[in-house]
Amino acid sequence: MKPKLKTTAITMSDELKEMPVFYNKNQCVNHDLGYSPSAKKPKLVVQAWKQMGYPITIHKIRALSIEEIAVAHDLNYVKGILNAKLNNGFGNKSQDVAKSLQWTTGSFFCAAVYAYLQKRNTFSPTSGFHHAGYNFANGFCTFNGLAIAAILLRKQHKAQRIGILDLDAHAGDGTEHIIDKTNCRDFITHYSLGYHDIQKHNNVEWLENLPVLIKQHFAHCDVLFYQAGVDCHEDDPEVYSGHFTTAQMYTRDKHVYATCNELKIPVVTNLAGGYQKPLQKIIDLHNMTAKAFQDS
Ligand SMILES: [Zn+2]
Repeated sequence: MKPKLKTTAITMSDELKEMPVFYNKNQCVNHDLGYSPSAKKPKLVVQAWKQMGYPITIHKIRALSIEEIAVAHDLNYVKGILNAKLNNGFGNKSQDVAKSLQWTTGSFFCAAVYAYLQKRNTFSPTSGFHHAGYNFANGFCTFNGLAIAAILLRKQHKAQRIGILDLDAHAGDGTEHIIDKTNCRDFITHYSLGYHDIQKHNNVEWLENLPVLIKQHFAHCDVLFYQAGVDCHEDDPEVYSGHFTTAQMYTRDKHVYATCNELKIPVVTNLAGGYQKPLQKIIDLHNMTAKAFQDS
């Protein structure tokens, strides 16, 4: 039995792909913030991915500065949020949330820099970005880590074109607002599922076409930011566009990773929305994203 077990172990580690995860406990808010579980998800998802036996490497992150966040937001808005004088995306002035925001945006930016420079797929266990506009918070989102990372990647690292594939159920309206306000449409390509009416009757067709959609929109990008939101699942109480079964969620993620592998575009994955109860149902869906990544 022994040699066989050894062989199996070696085969496993050879086949599994390393998953660089950009995480620091400062990006979590552990106490309950009401309806959205997004602030406590990072720790739970990282733990779950480790328990699945995937080779997770935790990479250091840094907090973004006020000036860095303000590349995509009004400076007074950034200061008002960080000083807990303005309402955050959860509709309160929590100091704990304010403290976490430079780290959540930092997690995503550090994952983006590594992906771009090393040409590797990376993971940022973050949520709560795409409804945040140039000078407003909305829908559990305060700062738009997607837009911030795209603009900083261009400014600091000379990236030519950045893609944002937002497959959360809801429209990335904050992202659109910032792209317009900061005149970034010439180097950011944005597709958001929430702007399309995908229901049970047309979601099979949409999924089948996803590889083509990715090639049409993002083939020329240096890096793709992927919002792997799970609120487009059919059982999610907030489902808007998508209405995917669990099996279709897995297919969605496989299409994203397999197509980007083919195009040789590094993908930066984050978690985005999910509202099913209990929380384990959301974690299970995020686990499937990790499995789809491994299987692609
Ligand atoms: Zn959503």
